[in-house]
Amino acid sequence: MIDYQIDADGIATLTWNVADRPMNVLNLASIAAFDEAVRKAIADPQVKGVIVASSRPEFVAGGDLDLIRGIRTAEESMASSGPFSRTLRLLETSGKPFVAAINGTALGGGLEICLACHRRIAVDDPKIQLGVPEVSLGLLPAAGGTQRLPRMIGIKAALPYLLEGRKVAPAQALEAGIVDELVPAAQLLARAKAWLRADGAAAVVKPWDAKGFRFPGGTSQDVGAAQIFFGISAQLLGKTQALYPAPEAILACVYDGCQVDIDTGLKIEQRQFARLATSAQTKNMIRTLFYSMGDANRLADRPQGAPTRKFTKVGVLGAGMMGAGLAHVSAQAGLQVVLLDTTIEAAEKGKAYGAKLLDAMVAKGRLPAERRDQALALVTPTTDYAALAGCEIVIEAVFESREVKAEVTRRAEAAMDPDAIFASNTSTLPITGLAEVSVRPALFVGLHFFSPVEKMPLVEVIRGQKTSDATIGQAMDFVKRIRKTPIVVNDCPSFYANRAFAMLPYEAMTMLREGVEPNLIENAARLAGMPMPPLALIDEVSVELLYKALKQARLDQGDAYREQPQDAVMHAMVEDFQRIGRKAGKGFYDYPADGRKRLWPGLAEHYPLAEVQPTLETVRNRLMYSQSLEAARCVAEGIVSVKDADVGSLLGWGFPAVLGGAISYIDMVGAARFVAECDALAQAHGERFAVPASLREMASTHQRYHAI
Ligand code: NAD
Repeated sequence: MIDYQIDADGIATLTWNVADRPMNVLNLASIAAFDEAVRKAIADPQVKGVIVASSRPEFVAGGDLDLIRGIRTAEESMASSGPFSRTLRLLETSGKPFVAAINGTALGGGLEICLACHRRIAVDDPKIQLGVPEVSLGLLPAAGGTQRLPRMIGIKAALPYLLEGRKVAPAQALEAGIVDELVPAAQLLARAKAWLRADGAAAVVKPWDAKGFRFPGGTSQDVGAAQIFFGISAQLLGKTQALYPAPEAILACVYDGCQVDIDTGLKIEQRQFARLATSAQTKNMIRTLFYSMGDANRLADRPQGAPTRKFTKVGVLGAGMMGAGLAHVSAQAGLQVVLLDTTIEAAEKGKAYGAKLLDAMVAKGRLPAERRDQALALVTPTTDYAALAGCEIVIEAVFESREVKAEVTRRAEAAMDPDAIFASNTSTLPITGLAEVSVRPALFVGLHFFSPVEKMPLVEVIRGQKTSDATIGQAMDFVKRIRKTPIVVNDCPSFYANRAFAMLPYEAMTMLREGVEPNLIENAARLAGMPMPPLALIDEVSVELLYKALKQARLDQGDAYREQPQDAVMHAMVEDFQRIGRKAGKGFYDYPADGRKRLWPGLAEHYPLAEVQPTLETVRNRLMYSQSLEAARCVAEGIVSVKDADVGSLLGWGFPAVLGGAISYIDMVGAARFVAECDALAQAHGERFAVPASLREMASTHQRYHAI
């Protein structure tokens, strides 16, 4: 794992090569091997200086999350993270110079190795990433990162790296003072040796181990730096609603750590890490953001044996909001796109949407002009179905009408290659029904994108009754090809994400009708971590859209339709008050010219406040449990897997990552408590809080959805 070489000049090179893993990672074995190599170099009187290097394309990619995932107690945490931190402190204070030869990406513990060394020389390659991104998974850099970085570059400069997980290329790292020198790749080791020979001996004492060390820019005891903490704490709480423990723990490490010597600071870091590693919040984030999302992205649940298909050309029917976005992301992924609409003007307009997005990227310097031109050249606007020949997949995004969809399906299939896939981007209409007009229903699938397509990473791959495994697998291949994340969903009205998410606006409107203070509704959602409060969100998507879906459901179900409490609110907002949402400048909110939207005062008149208001906790539970409960129903009905339900909730509708997703949240609350509270809500507010039998069974047998 660590190759150990010593040359004639007494320079030892410790080369990382964790051969049994796809990348150099820090795990029990590699940490132990590194520790052994470090001790050997320190103990060997022949060794004058040490180079830490890598024989892989990356330097060290970071910690192995399997190690952290299994941690149950603070003691286990200390036992797993402590040794590495101590190894790095040992090399730092060994009296021998260590130089990090950074040939590739060094993240998390990888960069922390470099920070502990006495010099950092990096290859000048903009593709290399340097940073400590642990915060994004609810963790903190626990091998000295929170202590060394502020001591090197000052508290103010260090905080964005630690709190936001900022990653930079070597050139920016040099500017920031995180690395000392850039070299061409071919000179890396020679330059490291030259430095050890010429300057190494003079650099073996770190500034913070020398007498009279002062923090660059001062510590939390100095007025200037103390103010940084006030500002950042307030900003942080505003952003996280105090739900995310990792940034707070990092801030505590820096604040407390800068008032003590580094050895004490490193102990503080270990304790804060243990607090995170054992917390439900961090486990939630690691589970869903890393493992479940990782599985979705590498298509772990792709039907076994489904043949793969190579995609080169895609047809998009309907060049409206969704079709234009679809054409854009497909072209950006290098696919040829046939963009078809009823008039050539409409098709051209769809292409122009992508052109505008690409222009903006070029203007910001994020895309070379020739790449924009290449992407645009791939899109052919047309009205002619014959152009669909040669497409491996055709996706329809025409009006949400069964008749219109049936017509384009027939016409497209007549022109398409016989083995090409037909996908519908319908948001509400079950796929099995739409596939009835298809002459090859096994090749008919749902691909439910979210708006705006260029920003939203999730795609629901919808399996109709007759969709074949091969089609599901290949539809997943396509989603991956255009760099989106697929989850597989069985057919049902509204599928998974919209169905579960709709519970949030529905419950909000129901409470409004009951006379719950609208600000209480909005704030409860915000404090629960939802990115946008529900009434504001309904305004964004427009009440009219929800009302349309309601009318369609009434029509489809006829006498069987059972009125829901929120229906009357939607009806009144659209039909009586003509307040359809933000696009009309009026909905649950007013949108005055000053840009500061305010809740519509008319709400008080039409939905007078109840004398007794529910507690914040009750409102929060109603808003959040209703989403989780619907997700649990989808799982119970076999619509979606537990993992995909979590991933879909984070990516599809911004369910807070710290709760792990709509299903993980039930585990976090505890199935028994969740069921008991839903039972109480069902008693007070109706059947929509009734729990599925399988969840009740889980509660009574103390089971969880996720093992860890
Ligand atoms: P849109 O009204 O913006 O675009 C529809 C486009 O289809 C228009 O350009 C129209 O000219 C074209 N069209 C209509 N009939 C056609 C025909 N016979 N042949 C070819 N083109 C035709 O609608 P949209 O918001 O892009 O939605 C399209 C589909 O995507 C709908 O099924 C919708 O439910 C679904 N969807 C929408 C969203 C969303 O947020 N807007 C999200 C997911 C899915």
